[in-house]
Amino acid sequence: MTVTEASVRAEVRAWLEAHWDPELSLRDWRERLADSGWGCPTWPEAWYGRGLPLAMESVVRQEFRRAGAVGIASGGGSGLAAPTILEHGSDELKRALLRPIITGEHAWCQLFSEPGSGSDLAGLTTRADRDGDEFVISGQKVWNTSAHHAQYGMLLARTNWDVPKHRGISYFAFEMEQPGVTVRPLQQMNGYASFNEVFINEARATLHQVIGQVDQGWSVALATLAHERRLAGIHDDTPLEGSGRAIEEYREERAHVMAPYVWYPQRYGRVDLIVKRARETGRDNDPVVRQEIAKLLSLQRAAGWTAERAKQARVLGRPPGPEGSIGKLCGSHIARQAADTHALISESDALLAGEDGPEAGIIAEILLSVPGQSIAGGTDEIQRNILAERQLGLPRDPTTDAGKPFRDVPRNVAD
Ligand SMILES: Cc1cc2nc3c(=O)[nH]c(=O)nc-3n(C[C@H](O)[C@H](O)[C@H](O)COP(=O)(O)OP(=O)(O)OC[C@H]3O[C@@H](n4cnc5c(N)ncnc54)[C@H](O)[C@@H]3O)c2cc1C
Repeated sequence: MTVTEASVRAEVRAWLEAHWDPELSLRDWRERLADSGWGCPTWPEAWYGRGLPLAMESVVRQEFRRAGAVGIASGGGSGLAAPTILEHGSDELKRALLRPIITGEHAWCQLFSEPGSGSDLAGLTTRADRDGDEFVISGQKVWNTSAHHAQYGMLLARTNWDVPKHRGISYFAFEMEQPGVTVRPLQQMNGYASFNEVFINEARATLHQVIGQVDQGWSVALATLAHERRLAGIHDDTPLEGSGRAIEEYREERAHVMAPYVWYPQRYGRVDLIVKRARETGRDNDPVVRQEIAKLLSLQRAAGWTAERAKQARVLGRPPGPEGSIGKLCGSHIARQAADTHALISESDALLAGEDGPEAGIIAEILLSVPGQSIAGGTDEIQRNILAERQLGLPRDPTTDAGKPFRDVPRNVAD
């Protein structure tokens, strides 16, 4: 049968009518979802999905919303780890790890960045040394969102020091709750503590916990990063209406899981508040303010169209173009422009934090949160390098380590 939007809509609607029961426990409901394939409809049929094309994801999501039904657990597990495991993991890993991601039993975090390796991620020095069928892992990770409540981490560690940097990295499904793992929150200047530093001292992972091949983790990491870019901006914050055990438990889970992300709307500059603030303050008659608002709204509209074009290209199965980097750069540019315009409108009041500040302190929070947008998911400078080299054909960034065994690459810190 040909899969059309109408056929998928009808099928998922009928299934929800027969099976959605808000009085189930959240866990029991998600076990049902895992068995049905409707929780992750674009995953393969053999692994909890229905093998539907990407374009049908939003159709199924709309039907869940319409029925007021809870979906699978959200976060780094379903968004990043699961697609990476589906593409590169062994059947043994898929069997062990995918179902607890769907039900929410296991939360995941991303253990990529290190104090000396953020933009130059392949320069990482966390080491995983082979000990029989296990690896002994030591090193430090940083900026790890949600690591404080994760059971698993997507961990990159160096398993071979005698080959160039990209060729000696392995990707582990790393158990966080084990001796030798210390997670410490980092307080941000906007008052939140979304990130952590993670210290790893002779912790362990088995050979079976390697996703992909030993030493070949770089291509697996690129797959995760591609999913991260795909997810950027797809945050569905609409609260679920209705009552029942599953819904109550979902609300509690969501409050817990989403706590690290509460400042993300401010990070994007809150363009939605600008016209309202201009009216409230009487600055909507100021020609300079009006001009800045017009520039900002036009930019936002143009960026939206680019994002839509990229989405349609993905749905049609076209390889990713420059839109990811352009979108990231536009996002940072708009966020900075929005922060400047907020400051122009609210003047010195923009600095007032807390309940008495404009918009109950949100404007001050915007000013403090916007810089994070230029860093997360690859900094603006790195996006510019990508565009310059891959799209404009400009000379590559000079490197001193190309082709050198990583052991011989000079580093600031002694191993
Ligand atoms: C909101 C947020 C969430 C995050 N979540 C996670 C997470 O869950 N897990 C995780 O592992 N990490 C996470 N990170 C970390 C993030 O991936 C890194 O901060 C980012 O890759 C930049 O690395 P860095 O901080 O080491 O900066 P550096 O790489 O040290 O860069 C410092 C400055 O130098 C510039 N620079 C570096 N190299 C070049 C170059 N070749 N050319 C031009 N300029 C250059 C950079 O652009 C930047 O301005 C998160 C960061 C943020 C802000």
